[in-house]
Amino acid sequence: VSSLMTRCRTFKVLVIGDSGVGKTCLTHRLSAGEFPMRVEATIGVDFRERLLDIDGERIKLQLWDTAGQERFRKSMVQHYYRNVHAVLFIYDVTCPASFRSLTSWIEECRQNSIGREIPRFLIGNKSDLRNACRTDGQVNQEWAMSFAKAHGMMFFETSAKNPPNAQASARLSDGEVPHQQ
Ligand code: GDP
Ligand code: MG
Repeated sequence: VSSLMTRCRTFKVLVIGDSGVGKTCLTHRLSAGEFPMRVEATIGVDFRERLLDIDGERIKLQLWDTAGQERFRKSMVQHYYRNVHAVLFIYDVTCPASFRSLTSWIEECRQNSIGREIPRFLIGNKSDLRNACRTDGQVNQEWAMSFAKAHGMMFFETSAKNPPNAQASARLSDGEVPHQQ
């Protein structure tokens, strides 16, 4: 009964970026703790949730996994940004074009959040492919870091497939909450 009565705050998190960068796989990883066997192309927007217990408070992350190149995006985009708590901008570390697109994704965010300070995160996905691909076809981590800094964003490189800290994510999939040291 007490768990039913626990206050639950919902945080709306928007996942943005070119198609193919791994937005759906990342939201799947965040909500289910695993890499999906197969993914369908996203149409419009999909929703996934993740419950967290932080300092005795139940937090619900509501992940909005959007599609990049849909024709009806323009009519939907205002809904995406309404009451949003954080935006994750995703690119693929092995696809410089997806990094170059960030400028227009950031501009879309700016236009739809005028007068609001929304925490924004830059996330380079598919870091597991770094060693498998030629270095000159990759997005340099230092550039990405300074790009994030210039735009006031937090920066992470990660992999939805093989997370750099696999042990931590295995614990997360059991529903445990990592503690800050
Ligand atoms: P979206 O269009 O941004 O939603 O991208 P998807 O999540 O559909 O992923 C596009 C493709 O990239 C799929 O074939 C995924 O299996 C693959 N993918 C996604 N994340 C990763 C990752 O971290 N590492 C690798 N190697 N492949 C990934
Ligand atoms: Mg998708």
